[in-house]
Amino acid sequence: MYLLEALLTALYLMAMLLWTFCNTADLTIKAYANRAGHIAAAQTPLLVALATKNNVIGWFTGLGHEKLILLHRVVSRVLLLEIWIHGASRFKINPTGAINSLWRKEGLAAGVIYGVLVFVTIAPVRRRFYETFFVIHTVLAFSYLVLAILHLRGADEMSYYIWPCFVIWGVDRGCRYLRYALLSGVASSAGTSATVEVLNHDTVRVSTTRRIPLGWRAGQHMFLRFPTLGALESHPFTVANVAAYAEGGRRERKAVWIVRTRAGLTQRLKAHAEDKGGVATVPLLLDGPYGAPPDITPYSTCVFVAGGSGVTYTLPRFHELLLQVAAGQACARRVVFVWAVRHQSHLSWVADELSAALAVAPAGVEVSVAAYVTSDGPVDSDPQHTLDDDDDDDSTDAEKGAAYDEKLPPTPASVLRGVDVIAGRPDVRKILEDAVSRSAGPVSVDASGPTALAASVREALSSSFASPLAVLKGAPTVQLNVEDFSM
Ligand SMILES: Cc1cc2nc3c(=O)[nH]c(=O)nc-3n(C[C@H](O)[C@H](O)[C@H](O)COP(=O)(O)OP(=O)(O)OC[C@H]3O[C@@H](n4cnc5c(N)ncnc54)[C@H](O)[C@@H]3O)c2cc1C
Repeated sequence: MYLLEALLTALYLMAMLLWTFCNTADLTIKAYANRAGHIAAAQTPLLVALATKNNVIGWFTGLGHEKLILLHRVVSRVLLLEIWIHGASRFKINPTGAINSLWRKEGLAAGVIYGVLVFVTIAPVRRRFYETFFVIHTVLAFSYLVLAILHLRGADEMSYYIWPCFVIWGVDRGCRYLRYALLSGVASSAGTSATVEVLNHDTVRVSTTRRIPLGWRAGQHMFLRFPTLGALESHPFTVANVAAYAEGGRRERKAVWIVRTRAGLTQRLKAHAEDKGGVATVPLLLDGPYGAPPDITPYSTCVFVAGGSGVTYTLPRFHELLLQVAAGQACARRVVFVWAVRHQSHLSWVADELSAALAVAPAGVEVSVAAYVTSDGPVDSDPQHTLDDDDDDDSTDAEKGAAYDEKLPPTPASVLRGVDVIAGRPDVRKILEDAVSRSAGPVSVDASGPTALAASVREALSSSFASPLAVLKGAPTVQLNVEDFSM
């Protein structure tokens, strides 16, 4: 659990417990038993809304679903406690009640199912068995909602607390299916197809050209569904390029994703492309864009630090910023782009996108782009601190990766011209300290990639050069934005 998650849980818990126990005539059990039940029921629509991709909370606050999911977890834990308080105190008041009437049995079943729901969705289970988690979560959540409706209807015709949940869920589904229909070839010459290319033993590139009417903002992600490889699965991936129109037209846009393969659908995607000789055409349905990347236009210095496939987030942000500076819409005077890769050939993964970004760098802005090639540097004795994508590679994987790397075409000269290729790992602290000390105004730092990289950036920015004391002494403020590709 993140510190923020723990803090929010504590605050929310305090508020709900005050609401439950205040004004209960010296903690009379009858006074708070039902109040806890009412509070739990009233929180349920909020809980459901916070789990959806399209909801009014997101529309009003501008927060993406991947951030709101944190609040969903906070509310879910507090709701569990309220349900337990309600159940335990009702049991104390009337121990045989749950056996005597159906609506009470339904309430008991709803409480038990909700408890199981919260416990089986803890982070280790969620991260390790995502698809299983998703199915169990959906089935249990629906069972809980139905039983809660029955219980509340039996209690006092109070099902009005719960049925809005189905409306909220329906609106979300409706928005998602509408997007699937709109973005998945309804009016596109290319139909629903996408190209999948194997780039490495653990990386593929997916690209598609189609009508995406409103485009996307740099750093946003889309849900990709490959019906022939996993009909019910959709996975979030950040679009690796800016939303420009495809060559020769003003209707269709090319979207590119760099996908690090894991054990599930992404592995099947790579295997399918390998079976077809390294490049395959597959049907692809799209839902998105989602996410609310922070606005960095007011910052004087903007630093982007990525490791491996994390570049899919920082590169379009870098490109978009340069376009905004050129159009007079952003204040940046210095832009620093750092990318740690295992092998120099990985630069060709996003060669077109990198060349396009470098080509629009306006005069009057100091732009520095550096690629750190970690396999060329000294051997890393501390695997905890790998800054490219190697975090769970074993030696066999590394060998497979090397075999692929040697086969990749040389990095185009147009890319190499604008990039300092440096052997070894980036010294994140030095880069950030230099950026902060040389900046005339506020600094923004975007970091994306392996956990170790995000940790290095956070550690560096907790140093004295970016501390509140340094700011009081006149150092620029620093905004950190980490995209860690997890929910
Ligand atoms: C907002 C966001 C943006 C992302 N952008 C990228 C990107 O640009 N490039 C990239 O390589 N990866 C990205 N990811 C991660 C990517 O979604 C997962 O690696 C992918 O879904 C794994 O699929 P799998 O079936 O092979 O995973 P598995 O091997 O089954 O699981 C590997 C990991 O991925 C997580 N995961 C699995 N399915 C999902 C899902 N549907 N939603 C969220 N997490 C899931 C699991 O919890 C687990 O931690 C992003 C994730 C998020 C949340």
